[in-house]
Order: sequence, then structure tokens, then C-alpha cells
Amino acid sequence: MTTLATNFNNTATLPVEAGIIESLTDRILGGIFGLLLGDACGVPVEFSPRPERDRDPVVNMRGWGCHSQPPGYWSDDGALTLAHIAAFLDSEGWDPESHIREFSEWYEKGKHSAGGFAFDIGESTSRAILRHLSGSPWYACGCRGVFDNGNGSLMRMLPVALWLWQAPPETRALILSEASALTHGHRRSELACIWYGEFCVAMLAGADMHDAQNLARQNTAPFHLEKEWQHLGGLTRGRYFQKSRDEIKSTGYVLDCLEAALWCLEQHDDFTDTILEAVNLGGDTDTTAAVCGGLAGMRCGYSGLPEAWLTVLPMQAYLHDLARDFAIQTVGKNLILT
Ligand SMILES: [Mg+2]
Repeated sequence: MTTLATNFNNTATLPVEAGIIESLTDRILGGIFGLLLGDACGVPVEFSPRPERDRDPVVNMRGWGCHSQPPGYWSDDGALTLAHIAAFLDSEGWDPESHIREFSEWYEKGKHSAGGFAFDIGESTSRAILRHLSGSPWYACGCRGVFDNGNGSLMRMLPVALWLWQAPPETRALILSEASALTHGHRRSELACIWYGEFCVAMLAGADMHDAQNLARQNTAPFHLEKEWQHLGGLTRGRYFQKSRDEIKSTGYVLDCLEAALWCLEQHDDFTDTILEAVNLGGDTDTTAAVCGGLAGMRCGYSGLPEAWLTVLPMQAYLHDLARDFAIQTVGKNLILT
């Protein structure tokens, strides 16, 4: 277990042109709210089979359904994403203990949840948090077995990647790995989070899908020889670009989820169409749409998100304060204006 990351502070600098700040802020807010919208859109039909979605496709934000939650209510995906954001804003640099503490407060008290209580808790995440609540330090909490490769860390990785957008790729990879390992410590999950994180950073910079694919591949080159990286092979070579819908699985397995999310992003330009595609794949609808929604939201920016969906999200003041503070911290403090 490395300790280098615990001393990291977001102090790298990047010269940018004036006016870019507005674009970056719009994309960061788009990513956060896009993820929440994707999660909320998938919640009512989570784990419904694809034939059911084909018979009764989701065509707008719904409520109730399998979790009996009102429209716009996000689940674990959104809550743990917000937990990361809160922990970043409350700590200096990367402090893993503060992040898993936020997870525990969500689990016990419903902090960062839409309705005041935690629901839709994944098995590995639950076990990791219970270890933390029993007194284990952050580095001893995560599950590390090969069967612990669900999408429970991938779904919350967007703010970790964005916070580190100016860090060297090797530092970003280290911290993304540690962030995954808070609950999902098998190397395959960590590598999936690194890949997704590099994709997030590329799209924050305004890259399209193909450029993001190439940039992510370049920035993850040191990992290509790792044994577990072989499992990501087809995905990182962009084979999902050519796959048909029938070939895309939308299960809770981390690599199925990542591939499904990227495939949906490739099918559509419009945010709403992209999210509905993800939800109507069936299976792990909320997490596929959350992982996809973060990237789709960055692609269109907050200004491109559907207003009718945004207005049904609960806790508007809390969400906007947290997201705005995170965007300001992430974008602003280290930029050198030219
Ligand atoms: Mg969920």
C-alpha cells in the first residue's frame, strides 16, 4: 500500500486562455449533474431485463418503480460521488480516510442521499464500510477478491479524476487506484477506474470520443503490460465502437458497465438520448447510466442538460453549492491565465 498519495496537493499549474474557465466549469458541473440524472433515471427500473425495457422503454424521467423513490432521486452512485466531492472540499489534498468516513456517514445517516437514507448498497461497498465502522483504517477496508469486481467504485470515480486533472498521469493513476480500493481493491477494478478517469480528464479538455480514447490509451501506457490489464484489452482498443446492441452487456461487472457506458456515448450526441439508451439496455440501469451520464454531461456541459430533468432533482441548494464549490476549487485555484 502506497502512502505517496496521501501527501498530494492539487498544486500543478497549467496555462490557459481567459474564457476557458467558463468552459471547464460548465463541463465539471455537467459531469456531476449528468451523473446524478443518469442514476436517477435508471433507479426505478434497476435490474429489469432488456426484453422488458424493449416492451416498455423509459422515455422520460420516471419515479417509483423497484425502489419506490420519487422522480429525480439518485441512489448509491450519486450519493458516493457527492461524498467524494464533500471530502475533497473538507480536506487538504488527498486524504483517503476522510473519503471513507463520508461513505460511512451516508451508510449510517443518509448523508448525501436524496431522501435522507441510503439505499441500493452494493455488496462489496457494504462490507468495506462495515469494516470501517468497526474501526479498520481506510487501507484495510476494501474488498480484493476477483469476485469483488462490481461497478461500485467505477460509479463514483468522476470527481476523483476531475480533482486531479492537472496532476501528472502517474499521480492520478495512483490516487484513482487508492480511491477505488476504499471499497473495490482488486487490481481489475482499479485499472478500470484509471481508464475511466483518463477518459474523464480527456473529455474535460474538450476531446471527442475518438480523441478521448487515444488520450486515455496514451496516458495508461505504463499499465498495458500488467496481467489484469489484458481484461481491459478490447475496451481500451476501442472495439466497442463496432459492437451491436446485442453484444453489449449491461451487468454490474465493472468491465461490462464501462463498455456499455462508452458504447452508449458513441451512439448519440444528445444527452437525453444517451441516457435513455443506457437505461433501456436494462440490467444495472442506474449505474450504467450514471457512469455514462458523467461523461455525457461533460460533453454537453451543464448548459446542455435537460432543464425539465434538472428541476426534479431534490436538494437543489445543497447540490448547487457543493458542485459550484467543487468546480471553483478544481478549475480555479491553480490556473495561470495568459
Ligand atoms: Mg445505484
